This record gives sequence, structure tokens and C-alpha cells, in this order.
Amino acid sequence: MLEEHVCPHCGVKMESWIGPPESGWGEILVCNNNECVFYRGSQHDIRHKDEDSNLGCRYALDPDNGYTAFNLLSWYK
Ligand SMILES: [Zn+2]
Repeated sequence: MLEEHVCPHCGVKMESWIGPPESGWGEILVCNNNECVFYRGSQHDIRHKDEDSNLGCRYALDPDNGYTAFNLLSWYK
């Protein structure tokens, strides 16, 4: 059972998500808010590097590593 965490960037409750098997993450917590300033800001940054990129970074926590924050690269829909 994972702790409940709230995204520090938008205040939305983070949701558990099972990473792809090849990622080795297991269950993590992710901010799935598309309006999150962290997510929207990351899209902006990445687009400066590659105009065709639809990638963004979501704020995520790794419960297996003491709930350490990391950037979860995800497709921008
Ligand atoms: Zn957020």
C-alpha cells in the first residue's frame, strides 16, 4: 500500500501507476494532471530542443527509493 502524496506543483492527488516491465520501476506515484505547471513547463522546455517532439515530463515519486521525486517522460496528448 502506497502513501498518499499530493503534487507540490499543482496540489492534485498523485495516482499510482505500474511502470513498463523494462523500466524496473514497479509501482510509482504520478501526477496525471494535464494542467500541472510542472508538466506544462516541461513541454515548453522540450519543444525548444525539438520542434516535432510531443514529449513532456510528469512529476513522479518512486516509493521503492524513499519517495524520491523524478521526471517521468511521457507522451503529450
Ligand atoms: Zn502536478
